[in-house]
Amino acid sequence: MSVALRILDDGAWVSVDDTRRVAVSELWRVPGVEFCRCDLADIVVEGFLEVGVDGRTVEARLYGQCIVCGESGTTGWLPVGRIVDGEFYDLDREGGAAPTGPTPENG
Ligand SMILES: [Zn+2]
Repeated sequence: MSVALRILDDGAWVSVDDTRRVAVSELWRVPGVEFCRCDLADIVVEGFLEVGVDGRTVEARLYGQCIVCGESGTTGWLPVGRIVDGEFYDLDREGGAAPTGPTPENG
């Protein structure tokens, strides 16, 4: 039930089972992180530092810049996706209309 998580191309991609699944240059809308002073940070991802899995939640640490306040730096662990039955499912990181799939609660 484990998946192979890797960071490729000097932090440009998170690879799940040898497939590039999560790219930089995405905008992540992240509430309540210590990254900056915003209640809701809009972070442009510039690179991934680490990727790991906590239970079923795939998490990554990344560096980037909040386009709301201009703060840049590295984040703590942020959820990237979920492992369900050995398969990776993207989380809705931009806060828009949710695609199919279960609504994440507190883990
Ligand atoms: Zn900010």
